[in-house]
Amino acid sequence: MLISVIIPCFNEAEVIEKTWEKLSEVLTADEQHRDEPYMHELIFVDDGSSDATMAKIKALACQDHHLKYISFSRNFGKEAAMLAGLSYAAGDCVIIMDADLQHPPELIPEMIDGWKDGYDQVIARRNRVGDNKRKTMAAHLYYKIINHIVDVKMTDGIGDFRLLDKKAVAALVSMQEYNRFSKGLFSWIGFKQKIINYENRQRAGGETKWSFKRLLSYGIDGLISFNNKPLRACCVLGFFLVFISLIYILITFIQIIAHGVDVPGYFTLISAVLIIGGVQLISIGVLGEYIGRIYYEVKRRPHFLIQETNIATENKTVSDVRKM
Ligand code: UDP
Ligand code: MG
Repeated sequence: MLISVIIPCFNEAEVIEKTWEKLSEVLTADEQHRDEPYMHELIFVDDGSSDATMAKIKALACQDHHLKYISFSRNFGKEAAMLAGLSYAAGDCVIIMDADLQHPPELIPEMIDGWKDGYDQVIARRNRVGDNKRKTMAAHLYYKIINHIVDVKMTDGIGDFRLLDKKAVAALVSMQEYNRFSKGLFSWIGFKQKIINYENRQRAGGETKWSFKRLLSYGIDGLISFNNKPLRACCVLGFFLVFISLIYILITFIQIIAHGVDVPGYFTLISAVLIIGGVQLISIGVLGEYIGRIYYEVKRRPHFLIQETNIATENKTVSDVRKM
């Protein structure tokens, strides 16, 4: 039995050694306590770091034969890094975790227990203790709204930290969409799921890679990737406006018949022009978002390019991975 742990890393030189140490300690201790012993592999995916991350990973790989690495030719984003890890993991189950120790490795034994009990996805859920208040409120609001709109269920506090059975991994790798929104994909594949809770942690070192702009764009991705309701909303809004306009035209027409033509109408005219213009622009924008996504999907570019790896890839090229 083999357990793979995937760790996406982007400029994590400050914490990478600590993370490896902690992970190895937890896994080695756990392996020995089990009736049915297992082996583990750690897959560090270097997402085009510009600091010493890769050098440190390579140095660790010399000491630890469990350590595998994949290094990208540039920064492709965490979604691509996770996909690479999932595509190359050989384990019977796979655990995805961040490199900054915000996902506590101590939870891994409990996750493995859940998997042994027959769950295909064992999901770690954090609370938001110690998080920025404004960020927490924004997140609450976002989840409230998004769960009304999208077709998959998304829960606050649930991220990428989870254990996946190889069935679930195969399902995720088989979804080759270019715009990957993992939170939605994990929920979409289903399978038997168990949630375990943990206390929120702060980064062990280094800093977050998620600026406000990046978070906003991620939020919009979540909204658009899993449904076409915004398109429908534009349609509904259009019909609503036509309905209101018809009523207005009718009223004005009756007034004209009763009192003759009423020339002063500047305010109503300009309001109508502005509102309808605004609605049209928003609708074109929504259409544009979808068309933009279609544009990237049809190109079918690989999700990532590998600079180097110590995983045997003789029979597995990047394009094979895409077709899997
Ligand atoms: N990460 C990545 N590629 C990126 C950005 C982030 O692989 O382009 C990794 C990062 O190294 C970390 C994880 O994704 O292991 C989560 O990132 P971070 O801790 O910055 O996010 P936060 O915890 O603040 O949401
Ligand atoms: Mg983090």
